[in-house]
Amino acid sequence: MIVGGGPAGLAAATYLGRFRRRVVVFDAGESRAKLIAITRNCPGFPDGISGPELLSRLRQQALLSGAELREEALQDIKRDGAEFIAAGPTSVRAGAVLLATGVVDTLPDIPLATDMIRGGTMRLCPICDGYEIIDKRVAVIGPLKEAMRKASFLRNLHPRPHRARDQRGVSDR
Ligand SMILES: Cc1cc2nc3c(=O)[nH]c(=O)nc-3n(C[C@H](O)[C@H](O)[C@H](O)COP(=O)(O)OP(=O)(O)OC[C@H]3O[C@@H](n4cnc5c(N)ncnc54)[C@H](O)[C@@H]3O)c2cc1C
Repeated sequence: MIVGGGPAGLAAATYLGRFRRRVVVFDAGESRAKLIAITRNCPGFPDGISGPELLSRLRQQALLSGAELREEALQDIKRDGAEFIAAGPTSVRAGAVLLATGVVDTLPDIPLATDMIRGGTMRLCPICDGYEIIDKRVAVIGPLKEAMRKASFLRNLHPRPHRARDQRGVSDR
């Protein structure tokens, strides 16, 4: 049994299904990846892919490998001898549980924050998205210590890629 149907849970479901394990994935449907407008750092997708599309493909792949997907929030898991019993709206007994419940972002307290993230105006992860905003004017919001670290990281992205593009005579941003 897998708790969480984001990229981690679904990738695990695909592999376990291919190992001929019976897999049930419970998912409450709140993957962080749902908010990704487009990511261009996912290997195999040079033109980028949106989070919802990536999740849809991962779900399809997990289903093809034989996993069962249940759109349910799991409320409780109990031990019963060597097994686990999970209770959501439906119940499952399993020999092993894989927790892939992800994390929840702390968003800045500004109106429409989630819509801004979904639209790509506000971003949460310099590592994921720093490349996307090279040469653009950026404000970093957050507690000073974290914001400074992120601002320094973003600052480092500017010089080298910029020069490389100039040398090729390409100006695409
Ligand atoms: C705007 C944005 C842009 C991003 N861009 C990138 C990017 O470009 N590249 C990149 O690599 N990463 C990116 N990320 C990060 C990426 O989305 C996460 O790393 C990824 O979603 C983590 O996958 P996960 O499966 O661990 O967790 P999640 O995707 O969060 O999935 C966890 C799932 O578990 C479910 N769950 C939790 N508790 C229960 C329960 N009790 N019962 C049932 N289900 C439960 C949740 O509802 C959720 O569906 C971005 C994130 C955001 C928000």
